[in-house]
Amino acid sequence: MLMKTPAFILDETQLLTNLNILADIRKKSGCKVLYAMKALPCSRVLEIAKPFVDGFAVSSLFEAQLAQEILNGQGEVHLTTPALIADELYELTTLCTHINFNSLTHHNRYAPIVETQAKMGLRVNPKLSFLTDERYNPCRQNSKLGIDIDTLWQSNCLELEQVSGLHFHTVFSATDFTPLLQTIDKLRRYFGNQLEKLQWLNFGGGYLFHSISDYQPFIDLVIELRRELKVEIYIELGKGIIGNAASIVASVIDVFESDGKTVAILDTSVNHNPEVFEYQRSPTVLEHDPKGRYNFILAGGTCLAGDIFGEYRFKQPLELGDKITFENVGAYTLIKAHRFNGHNFPDIYLQHASEKLELLKQYTYQDYQQQWSMTAQKI
Ligand SMILES: *Cc1c(COP(=O)(O)O)cnc(C)c1O
Repeated sequence: MLMKTPAFILDETQLLTNLNILADIRKKSGCKVLYAMKALPCSRVLEIAKPFVDGFAVSSLFEAQLAQEILNGQGEVHLTTPALIADELYELTTLCTHINFNSLTHHNRYAPIVETQAKMGLRVNPKLSFLTDERYNPCRQNSKLGIDIDTLWQSNCLELEQVSGLHFHTVFSATDFTPLLQTIDKLRRYFGNQLEKLQWLNFGGGYLFHSISDYQPFIDLVIELRRELKVEIYIELGKGIIGNAASIVASVIDVFESDGKTVAILDTSVNHNPEVFEYQRSPTVLEHDPKGRYNFILAGGTCLAGDIFGEYRFKQPLELGDKITFENVGAYTLIKAHRFNGHNFPDIYLQHASEKLELLKQYTYQDYQQQWSMTAQKI
């Protein structure tokens, strides 16, 4: 099949490899695994993940609706969000099996509506910082994510058995279990045998299991907690499931000199991968060769001056039509992408384990027009 660019290519083999690692850990430890669908909610990804997971972790009404459409009652849907909205609450309780409140205010206010419909949990902020960039640190000063562990300790909430679970989520792209072990340690110090009154603990996401060589410490921890506290353990992974299972392929559409360096313009842009701009980081490029003789600035084709991927080296000079492959772009790319400048989204393909390339989605002018054309609505 002739593939047009820019193309977002899902790698089924890698996705299945990640899911099989988790299936193995699940079998050995007895933990439950959820896919955090905010990383990439493609229906095909959800369908592929479904047989390997216990359900989906969601953060809004739309995600909960999509999750139930795929699961059809055959799995759990866990909601965690600071954006619980009163008008949506009833519908959410029909879609979600578990709802984790982000604050005691929400818990006090909404528990009467939720308690007969879904299992209730609390997101706790354990006040242990493992991330240095404050923008991504859920345990930063004056955090809005979760109930301060000291406040929770004083609230008697667990003692009074007002909820059946505790949730925390404190790391991003972690490749060892030190943060998890420290967090559990702190929870046990604070709450001791009150934890036995719970039905479950949710460790959140943020761990890249496929990049961790020894997950025995995780398995041991889960087995110990399940035995001692008689609780279920959940993990809810996004990037650890889909992050390394997709790439974006772009074409070079122009090459020119600018102040002594050569710029190659691509038919993609940072708007297909906004975290490049947000974090000011350079994504991995397959064709990059650190020993290559030819240096190029890879830039996107929008009118934003900072729409730049970075400087890369190549064995041969880049020419019009050459392909550039950005790797490990499965998580938080397409879901954050937008059509600034009227540039379309990439076509979406699935590279099957059998090597076959299947076109899953092609956005058209009609999609763009539909987003922006407006007629008066009844309110
Ligand atoms: C984003 C998020 C996840 C998934 O995080 P990953 O880093 O993609 O694994 C899980 N739980 C919560 C509450 C989140 O906000």
